[in-house]
Amino acid sequence: MPELPEVQLVVNSLNEVLAGKRITFVDLIWPDYLKGIAGADNTAMLTGQTFGSISRRGKFILMRTDSLGLILHLRMTGKTLIMNHDEELPKHTHLVFGFEDFKLAFNDVRKFGRLVIVPLEDLQKAVENLNLGLEPLEQEFDSNALSDIVKGRNKCIKNVLLDQSLIAGIGNIYAVEILFASGVSPFCSAGEIKRKKIQLLVENTKSILKKAIENGGSSIRDYVGVNGQSGNMQNNFRVYGRTGEECIVCGTTIERKSHAGRSTFWCPECQKN
Ligand SMILES: [Zn+2]
Repeated sequence: MPELPEVQLVVNSLNEVLAGKRITFVDLIWPDYLKGIAGADNTAMLTGQTFGSISRRGKFILMRTDSLGLILHLRMTGKTLIMNHDEELPKHTHLVFGFEDFKLAFNDVRKFGRLVIVPLEDLQKAVENLNLGLEPLEQEFDSNALSDIVKGRNKCIKNVLLDQSLIAGIGNIYAVEILFASGVSPFCSAGEIKRKKIQLLVENTKSILKKAIENGGSSIRDYVGVNGQSGNMQNNFRVYGRTGEECIVCGTTIERKSHAGRSTFWCPECQKN
């Protein structure tokens, strides 16, 4: 699943390609992909719209046109692909926006992704309704903020990091890496984490997410950029996917456990609490 770094990279690319570009045609192949404005002819409404700036909130991509707000969630396997007009659409393409010189294909093998359309003036409200927590790369996410978040919480720290209503954008892979880098057990009750470790969690969250962006994101399953390019961050994983290998810090065997439906990898020696 694309996490904050991969979504940010898509946003950066879409900004470069789409800003100022006008939609000349819309081809809605799988109607359920689009959650449009009720009662309106959404494909007709999109045609002729020109894109303004594109931004990110958590794992959501926010696009603005002349009069519409578009909220894209890639979920598990969603991709946006910039293609030439004469290129054949890949299988599982559900929606296409045509432009003068190229087309943008919304592709999603598992069909969990959605594109929501609202009137532009309702975009801010629609984003607020997503109930997203702090942005980890913004200044608002600091050790005081994380201390407030974990205070009195019994649930394990990994699930706190993954809870989009508390901190927005971290998914399983980066949570696993952040916990390892901070020497914190994924199973540790959030409220029991010491202040020093809270500080480390904040620092490592920021540095790992930034490093992932610099490395073009992680391509362990399906993630590719808008031009089909893969990221390199998977080569920098220190614990994720390393079951049975020696911990790079202490040599202890890395363990794996399925936890709340996701794979958790950790070093039992380095991440004792
Ligand atoms: Zn270790």
